[in-house]
Amino acid sequence: MTSDPATLSRWVQVRQRTALATGLVAADRHCSRRQTVTVLAAVCTMLSACAQHAPPSRAVVGPSNTGGASAAATVTSTPAPPSPGARPLAQSSRTAPTATPTPPSRATSSRYSAFTATVIPVTAADLPHSWHPGCPVGPAQLRALRLGYWGFDGRPHTGTLVVAASVGAAVERIFADLYAARFPIRRMLPVDAYGGSDNASTAADNTAGFNCRAAVTPGPPSWSQHAYGLAIDVNPVENPYLEGDRVLPENGRPYVDRALGRPGMATPSGVLVAAFVRHGWSWGGLWSTPDYQHFSTSGR
Ligand SMILES: [Zn+2]
Repeated sequence: MTSDPATLSRWVQVRQRTALATGLVAADRHCSRRQTVTVLAAVCTMLSACAQHAPPSRAVVGPSNTGGASAAATVTSTPAPPSPGARPLAQSSRTAPTATPTPPSRATSSRYSAFTATVIPVTAADLPHSWHPGCPVGPAQLRALRLGYWGFDGRPHTGTLVVAASVGAAVERIFADLYAARFPIRRMLPVDAYGGSDNASTAADNTAGFNCRAAVTPGPPSWSQHAYGLAIDVNPVENPYLEGDRVLPENGRPYVDRALGRPGMATPSGVLVAAFVRHGWSWGGLWSTPDYQHFSTSGR
């Protein structure tokens, strides 16, 4: 029904992309035939320039998704304001609508150039293992962010990160920076994919945010900052938590030696720590019991 705004938006996008793709194919043919028509030469020049200077922009392209969460959507990157009518997480595996049609000139700059982000409301049903009544924040205070990231395979992927709604915009900027730097991330799934088990999630090298659980750090029981959606663990295997002889996850032991500086590691002068710090977050790698994977807004 074209009277439905979401349907209309998707329809407009499809029409725009079809027209654009047709135009690009035509232009490419003309380039290969070395025609000298002035207009086509200008188009060829523009395409060449785009290919050479494809910026790591916050524009819109649906990259291939060979890992992580479900199929990538072509989405807007501007922090989408929480909308009561927005699509719930349970339906996010399908192509998500965009609020604003993609400018064609940016959408085709490079299939690898565009960082994508979408903000999706969540309900208790979306968080069957990571949330329960009694948690310090409710689902209405959380959001699922569908974020583009670079994998260790050197390809772009899309993952899902659940964080507090209050930090959604900052988290989007952080991961836009990481995407621009092509910082590799192993996978990005809600901990619900691991039954809410922090041990299972970290052993799988999963980058995750919200989990309503107690802090792992020593001392009296208290809520982890993850229970507020105000902390994110990145590449836990490459960035384990150290407490004496304990290494969490255990398969992160080869990365206890931080001097090696291997891909995916958080280092004081590296892009991962810089991206979080730039947007006001703190790094647990500086603690006396270092938690190299942990970033938070509170420094706890
Ligand atoms: Zn953590």
